[in-house]
Amino acid sequence: MKTLPTITLIQPWASWVSLGWKTIETRLHPRFANLKGLRIGIHAGRVWDYDAHAAAARFLTDEQFHRSSRDSAIWHTRGEILCTALVKDFRKCVPEDGPAAMIECRTPRFGLVLEDVQPIGPFPARGMQGIWYWRMPEPMPEPEPRCRECGCMDTRGCPEGCAWVEPGLCSECAENRVVSLKNASTDFADALR
Ligand SMILES: [Zn+2]
Ligand SMILES: [Zn+2]
Repeated sequence: MKTLPTITLIQPWASWVSLGWKTIETRLHPRFANLKGLRIGIHAGRVWDYDAHAAAARFLTDEQFHRSSRDSAIWHTRGEILCTALVKDFRKCVPEDGPAAMIECRTPRFGLVLEDVQPIGPFPARGMQGIWYWRMPEPMPEPEPRCRECGCMDTRGCPEGCAWVEPGLCSECAENRVVSLKNASTDFADALR
């Protein structure tokens, strides 16, 4: 039976990692040092961190803020293993790590530098503190289709309702993208005047 070293993050932090917005997971202790070089599982705990938005506010775009608000797909994602990630490095954080960690890093913190995030499951599981070992199903089923921008799935669409416009992109996010592209091209046109 193959097992995967896994860590539990409370929400919305786990989803922010799974969407690739947060690439450094931080702890105040160095007990995750031995994960360096390993592929690990990212488990979303059942608990919602009501301080997360305030802590991450200046590192979130308006869209990211909206996509992790109450009743979003992220809001409904609890108690599940969402993805795996490769721990490229484990090191002390520096203040410049703030945007990648989505939290200020002037406070002494240790960082797991994550890369190559791969969606799996999601698989319901109970979280634990520290490093725990999840028994991987064999064979591993295909991950449930999800939106790469907001993490919504067939079982938890966007609160406004959405549909797939292409594999990995839902209509809500596609619309936002069109709006921001339009704004960008208007800005560009203005700049040329
Ligand atoms: Zn979406
Ligand atoms: Zn959606």
